Amino acid sequence: MGVFSRNIIIAIDGPAGSGKSSAARLLAKTLGYLYLDTGALYRAVGWKALKEGVSVQDEEVLAKLCSRLKLTVRPAGDGMKIYVDGRDITGAIRTPDVSRAAAAVAVVAAVRHRLLGIQRRMGKKTGAHGGIVVEGRDIGTVVFPEATVKFFLNASPEVRVKRRYQELRQQGMPVDLTVTRQEIDTRDLKDSSREIAPLKVAEDAIRIDSTGLTLDGVVSTMLETIQQKAGLKR
Ligand code: C5P
Repeated sequence: MGVFSRNIIIAIDGPAGSGKSSAARLLAKTLGYLYLDTGALYRAVGWKALKEGVSVQDEEVLAKLCSRLKLTVRPAGDGMKIYVDGRDITGAIRTPDVSRAAAAVAVVAAVRHRLLGIQRRMGKKTGAHGGIVVEGRDIGTVVFPEATVKFFLNASPEVRVKRRYQELRQQGMPVDLTVTRQEIDTRDLKDSSREIAPLKVAEDAIRIDSTGLTLDGVVSTMLETIQQKAGLKR
């Protein structure tokens, strides 16, 4: 479809299993924009903490870990690759253990502060792409409150659990539906009840319920909204 305009920021927030990663990736591909999965940044910090055997709750230790963390994000195919200290950890951060660790480190102010800087710098460097699609939990509320268009994606709890279960299975991980449901419930509660940057709908976000929609259906709805709301012309 090509680039609509310059320096466009599309924010997509939502809980686990809402379908935001697939939608964000396809939207970015369709528009020719950059794609940033901010959950991968929190996962990278959680992964590093687990690797070093440090507590995912110790603020002081995590602040130090973050200050020396060498994080690199590179566009790759329809998605992105993430590196910590030069090591490609794109696949390694998808395990349930890392999901839990990510949600734990995400409540720590020093971690959020460090990652906020990285996200904002990336948002300013869209270069020839002309725009960026950023997905996470606090993109429309905290990271890019000035985003051109904001979406909040959700789906019924059953559908979200099923999607997460299928995603883990596709990655070849041993999974159990009950354990997956518990993982999603615990993470949702932690993400929406934390003090700093909790998961919530930005006032000016457009809500999309993806329960009965296909991926193409979600992305077409988004594209229509982007054209209407931002008045962007091809
Ligand atoms: O999106 P994903 O499931 O990969 O995110 C992993 C965790 O990272 C979330 O459960 C949440 O705790 C944290 N996160 C966050 N803010 C973001 C993105 C992710 O707190 N913008």
